[in-house]
Amino acid sequence: MIIAIDGPAASGKGTLGKRLAAHYGLPHLDTGLIYRAVAKSVLDAGRRPDDADAAVAAAKALDPARFDEVALKSHAVGEAASVVSAIPAVRAALLAFQRDFAAQPPGAVLDGRDIGTVICPHADVKIYVTATPEVRARRRAAEYRAQGRDIDEATVLADIVKRDERDSQRAAAPLKQAPDAYLLDTTHLAIDPAIRAAIDIVEATRAGRGRD
Ligand code: C5P
Repeated sequence: MIIAIDGPAASGKGTLGKRLAAHYGLPHLDTGLIYRAVAKSVLDAGRRPDDADAAVAAAKALDPARFDEVALKSHAVGEAASVVSAIPAVRAALLAFQRDFAAQPPGAVLDGRDIGTVICPHADVKIYVTATPEVRARRRAAEYRAQGRDIDEATVLADIVKRDERDSQRAAAPLKQAPDAYLLDTTHLAIDPAIRAAIDIVEATRAGRGRD
């Protein structure tokens, strides 16, 4: 079973992906980490994230086994990831790895921006997770505070709005809900009820009930 989860920044899709994967005993790929790793490698080399040659070279040299998740989850790397990910050749260089991950038996959970639309258009279950920008900014700012990073909520909100715009307006694999994806709005849902709702969606799809 392949479960595709997409949604904007800080919508909760990463946590949902992780928890669904644990529930169903499937491997999980947070594809945002891949774009973040490309961005970090470009920044570490002293290049700009819109430098297509540097970004493509970084994408081709990527080693997902060596990802440092804490370093990759920084605010600056997320912003740069949103720039490198708009470069079509970067996306093309990362496609096979993601499709191979999804194709391993008995399946996988992938989360990102284009999983249900481009990477796994034939996924068994597609979920599009969203929440208002204000709620997402509040959650993300709390995460940064818990990590000892002091970034104020207004800055996080402004960046989230900018990132949503960049991710959904780009020409290459823009962020959008696949026509056959279930919409899960977590604006008023804490994490446990959101997981429950996601499991209900998976179970309904498996039982062939489709959309309620
Ligand atoms: O989800 P996360 O915030 O870690 O993603 C960082 C950036 O990587 C996103 O803003 C988006 O531009 C890019 N991304 C993407 N396609 C994916 C996953 C992430 O373009 N499948």
